[in-house]
Amino acid sequence: MRFKPVIGLEIHVQLNTETKAFCSCSADVFELEPNTAICPVCTGQPGALPVPSKQMYEFGILLAAALNCKIHEYTKFDRKNYFYPDLPKGYQITQYFYPLATEGFLELDGKKIRINRIHLEEDAGKLIHSSETITQAESSFVDMNRCGVPLAEIVTEPDIESPEEAKKFLEKLRQILRYLGVSTGDMEKGALRCDANISVIDLENNVQSNKVEVKNMNSFKFVEKALEYEFERIKSQLKRGENVLKETRGWDLSTKTTISMRSKEEANDYRYFPEPDIPPVVISREEIKKIVEKMPELPDEKLNRFKKKYTLTDYEAKILTSSVKLADFFERCVFETKNPKETSNWFLTELLKYTSSEDDFDTLKIKPHHFKELFELIVDGKITRNIAKEIFKEVFETGKSPSKIVEEKGIEVIGDETLIEEMLKKIMDENKDKVEAYKNGKKGLMGFFVGQVMKQTKGKADARKVNEIAKKLLGD
Ligand SMILES: [Zn+2]
Repeated sequence: MRFKPVIGLEIHVQLNTETKAFCSCSADVFELEPNTAICPVCTGQPGALPVPSKQMYEFGILLAAALNCKIHEYTKFDRKNYFYPDLPKGYQITQYFYPLATEGFLELDGKKIRINRIHLEEDAGKLIHSSETITQAESSFVDMNRCGVPLAEIVTEPDIESPEEAKKFLEKLRQILRYLGVSTGDMEKGALRCDANISVIDLENNVQSNKVEVKNMNSFKFVEKALEYEFERIKSQLKRGENVLKETRGWDLSTKTTISMRSKEEANDYRYFPEPDIPPVVISREEIKKIVEKMPELPDEKLNRFKKKYTLTDYEAKILTSSVKLADFFERCVFETKNPKETSNWFLTELLKYTSSEDDFDTLKIKPHHFKELFELIVDGKITRNIAKEIFKEVFETGKSPSKIVEEKGIEVIGDETLIEEMLKKIMDENKDKVEAYKNGKKGLMGFFVGQVMKQTKGKADARKVNEIAKKLLGD
């Protein structure tokens, strides 16, 4: 490997607190009528005074603890000054000099990606253009609903070594956010936004390119794609001996490339200065401890517990703990069935086939006791596995109990031994060569005989009985 990418991320996470960061307006503004969740504070009217939300601090502290950060007792807000129509105050309240937390890490497949800092700040509003792009638009509108929604900004060290690793980092972060319940982490809805910076090291010549910042990526996949594109672009410039410009580039979805937005040389000077309207926020160690004690079980802990407690493979446990709702439902089912392995199999092969998102678990019609009942029907030989799968689908769709479905449909397993024996005898008569081969040691042919009976009965024969009788007839 001659070239190696060096990647760092800057992530904005919308905290789903009840109120905005510094006023009592609702913070849940997604898809609201424009300018309906605003007040003099979040729109920056003269004389209006901001008061920091306690819940914003609690969420920030939980997040910082989950990312193994040093949490600071003394924090303070600053003003980041710039003009944009979606920022009525002309400045953003953020924590520049005294951030909430520093020096953490997120563990990814055994590797630690260091976190430089996490700070709290407020979101800006939104511009809506009358046309797809601002250049084609005849007019633009300002929606200030998002002004003042609390954000946690997470800045990583440049420890990420591939575009794929950047995507994995974001996926893991989103999982943690959802476990903590502090954000939906939904990138498509803007609840998680990510800018990346990338430089490339030419290991042969021991030179490192300038840093390029990449913006406008609104999905995990696009973060990976944009960084892959940038890695290739910078690499070929280095190969040609060209100077890689220090600049900001935007991911362009239509061309699947990045486009230069502005050169970094003319970087903005935001003239940060202390926010005079908000006194320093001091939270004691004890108070921080109390908040951190409320921390729920995190993804890695749950994964390890599932593997141990339920003797599951890493693969199974990873899927089952991918979301809290899925994991909770699994545990409730195992409590009923007392059979983790079988329950896991049914989750992985059937249940997850019919669910598309973790929210589906809020309204599931299938209940833990249905799993228990279904397993019992199989063990008692009342239904075959194949039929159980059909019944499962119906329970999932209707919420009817498995035995009721068996009764209604008149599904009955053929367990009549005389009938099974007759069928087997006929099959063996027609396949004398296979009977001979079985007796000479080709035991695998058992599957053939059983399979034929199942085929003739359309899967309704009691597989256990068919096995027993076939063995008897073959003299085993
Ligand atoms: Zn407000």
